[in-house]
Amino acid sequence: MAEGPLALETARILVTNDDGIRAPGLAALERIARTLSDDVWVVAPETEQSATSHSLTLRRPLRARKLEERRYSVDGTPTDCVLVAHRNILSARPPDLVLSGINHGSNLAEDVTYSGTIAAAMEAAILGVRAIAFSQMRPDEGRISWDTAERFAPDIVRQAVAIDWPRDLLLNVNFPPLAPNSVAGVRACRQGRRDAGTTVTEGIDPSGRPYLWIGNFLSDASSDHGTDLAAVMEGAIAVTPLHLDLTHKRSLAGLQEVFG
Ligand code: MN
Repeated sequence: MAEGPLALETARILVTNDDGIRAPGLAALERIARTLSDDVWVVAPETEQSATSHSLTLRRPLRARKLEERRYSVDGTPTDCVLVAHRNILSARPPDLVLSGINHGSNLAEDVTYSGTIAAAMEAAILGVRAIAFSQMRPDEGRISWDTAERFAPDIVRQAVAIDWPRDLLLNVNFPPLAPNSVAGVRACRQGRRDAGTTVTEGIDPSGRPYLWIGNFLSDASSDHGTDLAAVMEGAIAVTPLHLDLTHKRSLAGLQEVFG
C-alpha cells in the first residue's frame, strides 16, 4: 500500500499508456523509468486506446503477449493492462509505482474524465499503488518532442515519491510544447475548466453518407490562475493532484437537508 517515501532505486516500476505499445511516448517513458530503477516492466495496450477512460473489458477474454523480457502487450484498455499486470504478470511482486504515458497530447481540465492515460493511474490508485500520468501537449506546428519530458520527468518522479503518498492520490503531469530551456518551471496546480468545449465536425463519407466526427478539444486561454490549463499556457509544467472521490462536497450539506 502506498504510504511513506518510496526508495526508487529498488522500486518496481510499471510503465503503461493509452496510445499503445508502439507509441513513441511510451518509449520515452520507458527511458525515463530506466533512469530511476533497473526493475522496469511494460504492460501496454496492443492498439491505441485514447479516450477509453476507465473502461474494463468484461465480455471477452484478454490475451497478454510477452514481447520481450519484462515487456507485454494486452489486447485491452489501459485499465485492463494495470489490472492484468498487478494481478497476473507481476502478482509475485506487484509494482511500487505506475507511470502512464507519455500521452501524445495534453490531458488538462475535464480531459481527465476521458483520458485512458489517467485512467491507468486511477486503476493503480485503486490498487493502492502510487501513480503518475504524463502527457505532452502538441505544438501548433511540427512534430511532438519528448525532450522536455525526458529532461524534467525524472526529477518530478523523484520529488513526488519523496512525499507521504496518501491513499487514492494520483498525479497528472502535463508538459508544455516548449524546448527544455524555455520551460517556465514546474507548478502544482488544480484541475482547470475548458470553457470552449469539444467540436463535432459534420461531413460526407466517400459513399455519400453523412458522418459526425468528434475532435479538436478547444481551450479558453483566459483560464483562472492556478489551474493546469493556465500553467501550460504560461509555459510551465503542470502537476495536478487528483483523487478518485468525485463527491461534490459543497452540495452535500444542502442535499442532506433535503434528503436526510
Ligand atoms: Mn492517448
